[in-house]
Amino acid sequence: MNLTESLRRIVGDTAFLGAADVATRSAGCLRPDNLQAAALVRPANTDEVSQVMRWCFENNIGVVTHGGLTGLVHGGDAKPDEIILSLERMRAIEDIDPMQRTATVQAGVVLQTLQEAVEQHDLAFPLDLGARGSATLGGNAATNAGGNRVIRYGMTREMVLGIEVVMADGTIVSSLNHLIKNNAGYDLKHLFIGSEGTLGIITRLVLRLREKPTTTNMAFVGLDSFTAVAGFLKHMDRTLGGTLSAFEVMWQSFYHLVTMAPARGQPPIAQDYPYYVLVESQGADRELDTRRFNSAMEAALESGLIVDAAISQSDADCHAFWSLRDDVEQVMHGGLPVVFDISLPISEMDNFADNFRAALPAAIGEHKLWIFGHLGDGNLHVIVQVRPQDYMASRPKIEALVYSPLAAFRGSVSAEHGIGLEKKAYLKVSRGETEIALMRTLKSALDPKGILNSGKIL
Ligand code: ZN
Repeated sequence: MNLTESLRRIVGDTAFLGAADVATRSAGCLRPDNLQAAALVRPANTDEVSQVMRWCFENNIGVVTHGGLTGLVHGGDAKPDEIILSLERMRAIEDIDPMQRTATVQAGVVLQTLQEAVEQHDLAFPLDLGARGSATLGGNAATNAGGNRVIRYGMTREMVLGIEVVMADGTIVSSLNHLIKNNAGYDLKHLFIGSEGTLGIITRLVLRLREKPTTTNMAFVGLDSFTAVAGFLKHMDRTLGGTLSAFEVMWQSFYHLVTMAPARGQPPIAQDYPYYVLVESQGADRELDTRRFNSAMEAALESGLIVDAAISQSDADCHAFWSLRDDVEQVMHGGLPVVFDISLPISEMDNFADNFRAALPAAIGEHKLWIFGHLGDGNLHVIVQVRPQDYMASRPKIEALVYSPLAAFRGSVSAEHGIGLEKKAYLKVSRGETEIALMRTLKSALDPKGILNSGKIL
């Protein structure tokens, strides 16, 4: 039986797309191109995923798993002879347990859908990122997504208690642990979290929920120096007594990008500061939290650590502040972006940014540069936009300028987006030979035929 007939038989006619139909679908976030693959299947449940994998294993067909297609490292690209397995029909929130504070979900549930569902129980799933409206929980786990509240709650890895995985040969491994503490042998879920679909297909998850914070205080802050930005982080973290929930930095050009036309965002403070910070505190006592937040801000202003600030007066203000930070799509106007997602020590960040900015004109000529990121996590996003006709020639030069300084102190070529295809050549900047050898050992043990998202990461 050929591929089309066999896979149609497993998932049903309407859940199978042939190559021509696949090519009409967008390749995803910040991508101008469309998908390609021999076929796309949309299984309805774990059993169908398992049957698809068993058939692909027997017939040596490569499989690329898709969630919400919000990744930025070409981790979901398929070759023309591979199939795409999309989890878009596996969207059930199976259980929310307010006492144990867990949610059990299928992998295709959209992040924002779960955030809203658990709020009904006065709980929070604290993973949050700009792509919340499309990114799926399976994808978040497969890429160990980071986002805006890592400073308080950690990355996705810290929020997953259990998973169910379909292995390359179709075997279903159910490890749907509900316990916070479980040291009974190897913690298998961590093999798959952050493996970018190369070791198994995550089909269901048990996620850890938290009590929902009921108050949010935010400020948009202008600062004169990077030393002040770093000092302000320590000041707020120390003063807010554990309620600091986000600390986002923006160099001036990013602030201009999101507060000037064609962007629709309004600038909350003047546009001439070299650095901006979005700081957020979440707690449970409106009066007390507001007093503490405001007095922390006053102290920072009085001591000259910060020079200007707009403090939120309402939920609408908080929403408007976050919209500015999340309006990264603006980088698509007027050229093609080369996107980076690096980790480096806070003490190196400003030097890195200065040297990079200074080196760009000689290396690539005309361009735009934006730097912003999750300062509290040591994670910067660097985006260089070039003219479409310059993209292919400029990209390797820009990559070399970003990655060579990182090698000196083994910073990370990927803080949160993963390796995919984009960063593959640079994995050795961040990982040693024996680390990469062990990754290869795991890959060949779990996927002996190399059919799961082949060619990604390693
Ligand atoms: Zn980020």
